[in-house]
Amino acid sequence: MFKSILFSPVAALLVVGAATVAHAAAPSAKPTATDWCVRLATRLPTISADTCRKSALQPSGALSQQGFPILKRHIPATAGGKNGNQPVRVLLIGGIHGDELTASAIVFQWLQWMNQTPAREFEWSVVPVVNPDGLLAAKPHRVNANGVDLNRNFPTPDWHQEAPRYWVKRTGRDPRRFPGKAPLSELESRWINAEMERFKPNVIISVHAPFGVLDFDGPVRPPIRFGRLVFTPVGVYPGSLGNYGGMHKNVPVITIELPNALAMPSDTEARRIWQDMLGWIQKNVPRQGVIVDKAMPAEVEGLSACQNCRKSDFLHLFGLK
Ligand SMILES: [Zn+2]
Repeated sequence: MFKSILFSPVAALLVVGAATVAHAAAPSAKPTATDWCVRLATRLPTISADTCRKSALQPSGALSQQGFPILKRHIPATAGGKNGNQPVRVLLIGGIHGDELTASAIVFQWLQWMNQTPAREFEWSVVPVVNPDGLLAAKPHRVNANGVDLNRNFPTPDWHQEAPRYWVKRTGRDPRRFPGKAPLSELESRWINAEMERFKPNVIISVHAPFGVLDFDGPVRPPIRFGRLVFTPVGVYPGSLGNYGGMHKNVPVITIELPNALAMPSDTEARRIWQDMLGWIQKNVPRQGVIVDKAMPAEVEGLSACQNCRKSDFLHLFGLK
């Protein structure tokens, strides 16, 4: 049926017409790294368009709700892994909340250091701006262009019940924390989920601000300290990436909360966080195979009562659950 229409003279005209329209509608030049970087640099503290271009990001093929490319850099391991093992795969993402400007900017800063050891031993997928519409809005905002908090839109179990209930009862319908109408309803969270399926990270690092702590979800021991940021569980939320990745997909998720959403940490502090993070990954993230639940370190500040426990136990200790 379709074929017979396709070869009719009318269909031929339609096809030619469609091709003409498509050609006419195509932009005269595709947006380039310069275009993206000029826009991003106007928003990101301390990151120039030149530094952005040096980050060598490429369009992932996905677009935000408003059509800005979700930019990514894939970096294969260049230094040999120990004993010829597969390199550890690290998914590093920034700016899932659009008004946390430093959370994207520091990922650009770290991208400039990728050719140093031990970063070269890992395979990376780096996505510094997960929520470009929130970041590039006239007034940057946490949620995406549809008003959804992307970090509450991941498909944790019982999402349909838990996420709306949490939003109504615990946040008082805070529009900044709206989880969406369904899990993965948003282009940006769908893309991150697809990237998790495709890249199969051994560890996920998601950068936020401004709480000035480290949070962690997952099956290995949590980091104690990166730079001045100390492990302090901040909560378990229906639909969050940490909850989804760490507790349900069994991939360790480190949430880095920088201390300020607008002002960058000093270069020294940014370097310390980076080095501590790489050191932690080297020591704690298995390259492949089953990740065994290990005892939490008793030396974690203020947590010595807990000798062998998971994040939920810490939350009890902190009175957060
Ligand atoms: Zn955040």
